[in-house]
Formats: sequence, C-alpha cells, structure tokens
Amino acid sequence: MSRIAFLGLGHMGLPMAKNLVKAGHEVHGFDVVPAAVEAAQKAGIPVAASGADAVADADVVITMFPAGTHVIEAYQGGLLAAAAPGTLFIESSTIAVDEARTAHELALAAGHRNIDAPVSGGVVGAENGTLAFMVGGSDEDFAAALPLLEAMGKRIVHCGGTGLGQAAKVCNNMILAVSQIAVAEAFVLGERLGLEHQALFDVVSQASGQCWSITTNCPVPGPVPTSPANRDYQPGFAGALMAKDLGLALQAIEQTATDAKMGRLAQQLYAAFAAGSGATRDFSGIITDIREDRV
Ligand code: NAD
Repeated sequence: MSRIAFLGLGHMGLPMAKNLVKAGHEVHGFDVVPAAVEAAQKAGIPVAASGADAVADADVVITMFPAGTHVIEAYQGGLLAAAAPGTLFIESSTIAVDEARTAHELALAAGHRNIDAPVSGGVVGAENGTLAFMVGGSDEDFAAALPLLEAMGKRIVHCGGTGLGQAAKVCNNMILAVSQIAVAEAFVLGERLGLEHQALFDVVSQASGQCWSITTNCPVPGPVPTSPANRDYQPGFAGALMAKDLGLALQAIEQTATDAKMGRLAQQLYAAFAAGSGATRDFSGIITDIREDRV
C-alpha cells in the first residue's frame, strides 16, 4: 500500500483517485476549485487544506492538471519543498515534452524522483480503470510506479527516458487528428458522389482505410451506434482538448524542425473548430464544419 497525494481532482483526476482507493491505497487529495474538493469529499477521499499539506506525508505524488504551466508553478510553488526526500512524482497531465523535462529537472534538483505518465482513454477510461499510460523515466522509477498505474489503467507502456511519455502521446494524437479529418472528408466526398454512409463504412472498415476514427469514432450517425455522431457529437473527446494537444504537437514540430505538413494543417483545422462551435463537441464533429465549408 502506498500513501498517495493526488492533486487535480477534475474530470480525470477524481475517478483515477477513486480507483487507487479501490486498490487499497491511502489517498489524500487536493484541488484549487471548491466544487472539485466537494466532489472528492463526497466520494470519500480526504482532501488536504493545501497542496503542500497533501504531499507532506506521501510516498507518491500524482498530478493531473489542465496544462504544463500549472505543473511547473505547483512544483515550484511549494510541492517539491514540502515533500519528503525521495518522493516519487508521477506527472500525468498532458503537457509539452520540454515542460515534462523541466518538471523532471526541478523534481530531481529538489531530491525527488519523477516520471511523465500522460494518459489516453478519456473520462470513461479513468472511471473504468482502463486508461493507457505512456511513461517516460528511468527503469527503476517506472517499476516503482507500475502497480499504481495498473490500478488506474490497462495498458502501460514504458516509452523511454524523461519526456518520452509525452512524446508518444503527442505523436498518437497527431495521427488521430489527421485520420479523423481524413475520414470526415471521405464521408463528405462520398455524400456528394451519392454514396450511402453505411456502404462507405462497410467497405472502409474492412479495407486499407480502416482506422479507429471510422470503426469506433465514425463521424456520421448509424454505422457505429456508440459513436458521438449518434448523440449530436456530445464528447467523447472534446474539440478543445484535441486543439490543446495539437498545440503541443505543433510546439514539438517546430522545436524539432520536423516536416509535418499534415500535423500542421490538422492543428489549424482543430484550432478553428474549437474556436467556433467545436470546443465542447466531440472532435469527430469537425465533419459538420467540413460539410459546410467552415474550416
Ligand atoms: P479538469 O480541468 O477537469 O481537471 C484539472 C483539475 O486540476 C481542475 O479541477 C483544477 O482545479 C485542478 N488544478 C489546477 N491547478 C491545480 C493546483 N495547483 N493544485 C490542485 N489542483 C489544481 O481537466 P481533465 O479533463 O481532468 O484533464 C486533466 C489532464 O488530463 C489535462 O492535462 C488533459 O489534457 C488530460 N487528458 C484529459 C482527457 C479527457 O478526456 N478529459 C483525456 C486524456 C488526457
């Protein structure tokens, strides 16, 4: 059993913390937003008065914040100073690769251990304990974190050294964005050529164009009854989150001078989608904008 401080009890963090409690760990939470604190208390998770209080007695600190600035500010603003030497910091927010490396350096300089362990699988994966974790860090720290990650997730991949968990996440989501746009464009093109949605689905889902964006997240209602298109594009994975992840991809593309034309274009299209109607809709809803020539 570990003593865990779980900071950031939002859409993802609270169900993840609940799964750690279910697995028998002692969890103390903290969040800066009163509604999140209340929800955690209702779920039976004791909440500390501050982040520093939460981490003081912990063996492991897990952070699940909106963005990298929150992580760096919280690390520098008291968390690292308040934790006992040698505490393992597991950083699970989706942040830039270089922010993950900065957070790692700060943790090390303060005498702690740190891995980046971003997730995919969304709120449903967080609730069901079926998240995928992509981990960057040393073999030793990965091994120490593994039993905890297994309590929250199903597929846990050690991607390499510091920052490489975030690197894997950003690469995956860049592929996802490009493929979701390609599938949407194909359905709109098919409509204009007189092709039924079901007929296109029946062909592509068994052919070389097959991908998650059509077999699970099909952007038109009908062929995949559980896809967000059947519930007016309620997420799922919201456009704002895809736009955020593509912003991180663009940052990585520019820093590495990578010739990623499709990735750059996907970033532009999802930024426009999220700035318009798409912030709170599933990212597969970009098909509406493509159909109406709005992106
Ligand atoms: P969220 O906004 O619901 O939760 C984040 C929580 O962190 C908020 O409750 C906020 O108050 C809290 N917070 C911010 N600064 C804090 C601090 N200093 N101390 C304590 N609490 C603090 O966001 P979410 O949807 O839970 O996502 C969390 C992270 O996971 C993000 O980085 C996101 O990109 C990533 N992610 C989200 C999803 C998803 O489907 N929601 C999927 C994969 C990855």
